[in-house]
Amino acid sequence: MTTENQAEPTDIHVELSKEEVQELPLVPESVAPRWKPRTAIGKQVQSQQILNIDDILDRGLAIMEPEIVDVLLPNAETDLLLIGQAKGKFGGGQRRVFKQTQKKTPEGNKPRFATFAVCGNRNGYVGIGYGKAKETVPAREKAFRRAKTAVIKIRRGCGSWECGCKEAHSIPFEVRGKCGSSEIRLLPAPKGTGLKVENECQKILSFAGIKDVRSMTLGQTRTKTNLVKACFAALRELMATKVQTDSVASLGIIEGKA
Ligand SMILES: [Zn+2]
Repeated sequence: MTTENQAEPTDIHVELSKEEVQELPLVPESVAPRWKPRTAIGKQVQSQQILNIDDILDRGLAIMEPEIVDVLLPNAETDLLLIGQAKGKFGGGQRRVFKQTQKKTPEGNKPRFATFAVCGNRNGYVGIGYGKAKETVPAREKAFRRAKTAVIKIRRGCGSWECGCKEAHSIPFEVRGKCGSSEIRLLPAPKGTGLKVENECQKILSFAGIKDVRSMTLGQTRTKTNLVKACFAALRELMATKVQTDSVASLGIIEGKA
């Protein structure tokens, strides 16, 4: 094997801006009502035996079909995160939706597109999904589907000692998340602080319905994919942490919908 055949992903120029991506054709909305559930949970959702997403999430069941989220969280929004980068001089490439990599093969360079999607109702539920494909449209569809099936419940509250308002505008306690060399710490913040965190993480937190947060990042933060995954891992910690019953009231904790 010669060196030319070795697969080496390289970041190259990405042609599509965010506005252009929005203009790409979407799967028509009319497909949703004709949804044929293929999982037991999907069938229960369609027959209205399950009316609340908590019935699935609290039992630790996996959502396998994105349509479940479409039905149970009708006001959930989806968006793409800017994880790619256009080539620019002096490291100044503009952030793009698609991260483009290419594999060198004997036939030539084969590009692949990757993107991260976020899905949330801005009120206690959020998910992220990664999609990669040969073309931009299937990569985006894959990311949207995965973001929906990865929806988790978020515990909110006010863990800021400076604030102590007992309302669910921030997070109840500090959480950490790690992915590769990217590490993030999310800290409770008083009302009016806003989301003091990196832009793409900010998008995830606002889709989750968190309004005020302070943060610290450690390690590599230029790698957006890892930083985004670390942020989601931190959010998962909000529900994984055990909370004493008396602090539910003192920190104004709510789980999921307000
Ligand atoms: Zn507060």
